[in-house]
Amino acid sequence: MSLNTIIQPNSDKLKNSLPDRITIAEGDGVGKEIMQATLSILEAAGAQLTYDKIEIGEKMYLNGHTSGISTDAWESLRQNKAFLKGPITTPQGGGYKSLNVTIRKTMGLYANVRPCRAYTPYVQSHFPNMDLVVIRENEEDLYAGIEHQQTPEVVQCLKLVSRPGCERIVRYAFEYARVNGRKKVTCMTKDNIMKHTDGLFHEVFREVAKEYPEITSEHYIIDIGSAHLADNPERFDVIVTLNLYGDIISDITAQVAGSVGLGGSSNIGDHISMFEAIHGSAPDIAGKDIANPSGLLHAACMMLEHLGQNETAAKIMNALLCTLEDGIHTADIASENYTQLRVGTQDFAQAVIKRIGQSPRRFKGITPTAVGDPISIKLKPTLPVKKELKGIDIFLDWTGTERNPDVLGRQLEELAGAELQLKMITNRGVKVYPNGMPETFCTDHWRCRFVSTQYLGKTKNTSATPTAPVTYLQLVQLLSRLHLAGLNFIKTENLYDMNDKRAYSLGQGE
Ligand code: NAD
Repeated sequence: MSLNTIIQPNSDKLKNSLPDRITIAEGDGVGKEIMQATLSILEAAGAQLTYDKIEIGEKMYLNGHTSGISTDAWESLRQNKAFLKGPITTPQGGGYKSLNVTIRKTMGLYANVRPCRAYTPYVQSHFPNMDLVVIRENEEDLYAGIEHQQTPEVVQCLKLVSRPGCERIVRYAFEYARVNGRKKVTCMTKDNIMKHTDGLFHEVFREVAKEYPEITSEHYIIDIGSAHLADNPERFDVIVTLNLYGDIISDITAQVAGSVGLGGSSNIGDHISMFEAIHGSAPDIAGKDIANPSGLLHAACMMLEHLGQNETAAKIMNALLCTLEDGIHTADIASENYTQLRVGTQDFAQAVIKRIGQSPRRFKGITPTAVGDPISIKLKPTLPVKKELKGIDIFLDWTGTERNPDVLGRQLEELAGAELQLKMITNRGVKVYPNGMPETFCTDHWRCRFVSTQYLGKTKNTSATPTAPVTYLQLVQLLSRLHLAGLNFIKTENLYDMNDKRAYSLGQGE
């Protein structure tokens, strides 16, 4: 049990208004040092907070909590509005779940927000005018963590993308832009390849963008978008993207801005929000008093704004900018030309504290924004769809007759029966039957597509499946025939038309 109230900073200031109660966790590695530095600055600046301290991370993992957090700690998180979290070390080896992913998903923290700006010339970056925010979807995509191995050769990971999930994050991005006076929102997806999952994200982006005519909207395929981000980040303002791409581009962004030690991030949910530095536990420098506390301090300022303590947040940010301008730097950002004094973690915090109340000379000072209601997203209700079962993809583990797809194809044609026909077989997505190429490499994992034998003829709607609906019973009977013939089916995917449109991808070459 590690729940205890530890500090009441500036208790005299709390007499007039009730302080915000938050949960904090030091985490692992440099966590203790940077948390101590950050809390001392919050206290000196008059942040109106009380703290519940919880234990998370390596110690909890090794004590048998597979997600690195105890039941008591969950209670604290559920009771408070904000969580200031130090970095944690996920132990190597199987059986341990990522604490970050677990907290994000369990507490519904759907938006990961990472502002990233350059602090040139005091922190070296090639892009002095860089000032952007990456808003990453935080709960879906490949991070659903649904992975399987069903044949000796092939493993798979399920990519889940939902319409409410897309709508929530895209709306959040536009609302964030509106509230923070930003002018442009860029969406990045790979919908030229993943037409259904990334395609949905892009489609929702187009729909929502129309409701914000004052904000410019644009879309990049993620690969060229990332290239532009590395080459010319100054052209971007707010970027919204799916979970995996967001994870990758937000680290690229932090690096090109100058240092991963500087960035903070928030994970926004409807009930609680979590704030943390973007860097990890930095075990290589832990316990040496050399870590830069600015990342966690940034996160703490985002938290103060979230709690409506905008003035205190601006005061701290201005003091931080003054410290950087005065050349007082930790080792990670020290440079020959601009560092006057190289300091450790706690001395850096003291330098920031000394400058509370000052305004930066060269950097543009931070003016506290008016305290408004936190961004709250209302989703449109999901409309009913006309859903028709049009066939099935049956996946087989098969290595018969030198893996010749024609042999498998002929056997399946016989087993298909009078009502169903084998449309094609693919291997790793490429059509290998009928009329496959002998050059195509085949694994032990075969996707066999069956549809109705009854053609509907030429219809106006070219995106609908051209064959008649099938029944669940026909599919179950087909699976039974395959099983009795000794074929090892490992999974199935139903094929549907939604509102008379094909809702599954074609095979490459189909
Ligand atoms: P890292 O961010 O901990 O370290 C990368 C490099 O940056 C190291 O050289 C480190 O010394 C330096 N660095 C990081 N923070 C710094 C700071 N505040 N000041 C100065 N230098 C700093 O990344 P890693 O080494 O890949 O990961 C270490 C551990 O952290 C791993 O167990 C990883 O799983 C975990 N991790 C946790 C989080 C999190 O809790 N949010 C995020 C990323 C990684």
